[in-house]
Amino acid sequence: RAKTSDKGGYEVFASGMHLQVVQRFQLEADLRRGLERQEFQLHYQPIVSLATGRIVGFEALVRWRHPQEGLVFPAAFIPVAEETGLIVALGQWILQEACQQLRHWQDQFPSDPPLMISINLSGCQFAQPDLAARIEKILHTNGLDGHSVKLEITETVAMKDVESTIGLLLQLRSLNLRLSIDDFGTGYSSLSYLHRFPVDTLKVDRSFVSRMSDTSEDATIVQTITMLGHTLGMDVIAEGVETAAQRTKLQALNCEYGQGYLFSKPLDPEGATALLAAQFQPWGTRYLTN
Ligand code: C2E
Ligand code: MG
Ligand code: MG
Ligand code: MG
Repeated sequence: RAKTSDKGGYEVFASGMHLQVVQRFQLEADLRRGLERQEFQLHYQPIVSLATGRIVGFEALVRWRHPQEGLVFPAAFIPVAEETGLIVALGQWILQEACQQLRHWQDQFPSDPPLMISINLSGCQFAQPDLAARIEKILHTNGLDGHSVKLEITETVAMKDVESTIGLLLQLRSLNLRLSIDDFGTGYSSLSYLHRFPVDTLKVDRSFVSRMSDTSEDATIVQTITMLGHTLGMDVIAEGVETAAQRTKLQALNCEYGQGYLFSKPLDPEGATALLAAQFQPWGTRYLTN
């Protein structure tokens, strides 16, 4: 019989566990149903050239329009989607949806170079043996050049199994796709491997950017990451740019691109299209200068 008499600790612990398990199963069932009922939606956050303020593309960020909970953010469901393998189906939908949206934007707002889309890949998706074939099909269906689609994998995922990462990245590269390392600086990177990854872009994690103005030490970290990226022939995107002061510092460090609330929060497709319409209006351009 359970040891409930001592201090009642076990009982509390047990019911806490029970609650967690029930909640997790509930979430898993909800996720499945949400996928079937198409409750997911992509929001898009502009990626801006720091020098010109011009939108060069968007990062696609998934949202869940939950019938009871309202708008649910990825931190609340991506981990369970990964544990249950549901991320593969969800990720496939995300790739299709983002590429279809990019097709529309490139048609509506032609530019040279063309607008780009960045798509986050989870570790499970990255490990799928047929990932490249799936993406190739999606590119073909939407008449997209791989060069306007950028895949983001986190530093942690990339470093898990370096040799297989390099193989997978080369495969994706052969489709002309662009690649980027996300949340750089939060994981453990070995510099001797980083230079072997065939990636185009480093994304400096928001945590460093947000502390840039507080201490000179964090400004130095951003500077070091930016220089590292440039030395390896990559361009650099700063995430989480929230203030004009951060933007000015980043520009002084020759960081090429910024993404953050200073420019825009992630927007629904209509909102993102409206931003583009303002930038591409024929009677003049309005860039996101602040
Ligand atoms: P991430 O890829 O690093 O995405 C950037 C996150 O920072 C987004 O959060 C974005 O809304 C937030 N952000 C951008 N600018 C600012 C800012 O100025 N200030 C602050 N405080 N936050 C800012 P979000 O959309 O909640 O996504 C969180 C994470 O969930 C993403 O981090 C990514 O790892 C994951 N995720 C999002 N969408 C997808 C997806 O479609 N597939 C996969 N596998 N993961 C996704
Ligand atoms: Mg990302
Ligand atoms: Mg990121
Ligand atoms: Mg991040």
